[in-house]
Amino acid sequence: MSVTTVAADQSVCAPLAVLGRDVTVPLVTGGEVTYAALDYAASAPALQRVWDDVAAYAPYYGSVHRGAGYLSQLSTDLFENARRTVAEFLDCRSDDQLVFTRSTTDSLNLLAATLPADCQVFVFETEHHASLLPWRDARVTYLNAPRTPEQAVATLERALADRDPSPSSRLRSSRGGPYGPALVCVTGASNVTGELWPVRELAAAAHAHGARIVLDAAQLAPHHPVSVRDLDVDWVVFSGHKLYAPFGAGVLAGRADWLREADPYLAGGGASRKVSRREDGGVDVEWHDTAARHEAGSPNVIGAYAIASACKALTEAGFDTLVARERHLIDTVRAGLAGVPEVRVLSLFGDDAARVGVISFVVEGWNSSHFAAALSAEYGIGVRDGLFCAHPLVRTLLGSDPQTQGECGAPEAAPGEKSLNAIRVSFGAGT
Ligand code: PLP
Repeated sequence: MSVTTVAADQSVCAPLAVLGRDVTVPLVTGGEVTYAALDYAASAPALQRVWDDVAAYAPYYGSVHRGAGYLSQLSTDLFENARRTVAEFLDCRSDDQLVFTRSTTDSLNLLAATLPADCQVFVFETEHHASLLPWRDARVTYLNAPRTPEQAVATLERALADRDPSPSSRLRSSRGGPYGPALVCVTGASNVTGELWPVRELAAAAHAHGARIVLDAAQLAPHHPVSVRDLDVDWVVFSGHKLYAPFGAGVLAGRADWLREADPYLAGGGASRKVSRREDGGVDVEWHDTAARHEAGSPNVIGAYAIASACKALTEAGFDTLVARERHLIDTVRAGLAGVPEVRVLSLFGDDAARVGVISFVVEGWNSSHFAAALSAEYGIGVRDGLFCAHPLVRTLLGSDPQTQGECGAPEAAPGEKSLNAIRVSFGAGT
């Protein structure tokens, strides 16, 4: 792909340039380059405070839950304190469990592995693939894209009511009443449009029909406070690397029962309380019924510590301040883009929707991949192009025929053809 033959329109750069998040990075070939990194929805830059905390602890780490030595004791304390800090950040209930995982994707796959037999899963087609795909072994109902938050709630209620037509069965039960267990999986903020979903209302609808709900807060938690209690969700998941911590650690927090009753996600040391040989030559295992059950092997202590550090930093900065600052950035960028007639911003819920700093758009007459490459090469603005691991949603928003599109994230459009993918700019007020 040649980027020298296309030049991104300066009028699009101007609204993006106001974000002014310049980073200077060394080039492999020597020298350095300065550019505005506007891909926070993929991975946000770790806070300096997080790097400092990790650097201060890194020389002293030891194995957790295993050693009698001072460093092991210290690391165990820091790991378990990190668990408490993140649980506080999420305002978890006192009997919730918090499992450290590798990422949001890992957390949702873990939860999928704990579903009771015959569990029915309800998920909107608009979800990120991490929420859309882990439920392969369950009965899954894919719900059509709603066009308003109210429609989202009504769509879910209808789907759950179809499953559960008897008013007498509207029990709030861990097993979903006589109609069996059900789980709703929903995003808090879209990684494509940035729009906020009506999580509290969806949770109420789920519970009214004896279903449970897991909140994918990968895009919500870096921008807004998430309270498990207030939202009344059963589980919440997010990734450290989108919350201003480094890669490699994520969180699944929420109700303990399904987690306790399921086989360990990974079998191995740390998850097992007692292992003994049987007389018939086999092995008997007693698994932990705490979070350790799903944290077999040596855990990512530094990753957990880094997430906790980021949670503390965001809490200290104050979400009221962060939300107000981000609101200003969002309004500025959207107003700037609105002034460019060729730009169409993608939206499910419309202009008035509440949103975080994630804005996707297409530019008439441009191939989005070329446009994004030109933004980087010619203007030093780093964005993302493609279908953003939410293929059904982006295709719906582009109004394009899925049959004509490639499977990868960045299909090609012929010059002058309707764009088959989009450009995404994303940012946050955390740094
Ligand atoms: N859910 C949403 C809404 C996301 O935006 C993403 C990543 O972009 C994920 C889940 C998956 O996160 P991870 O790649 O950290 O597992």
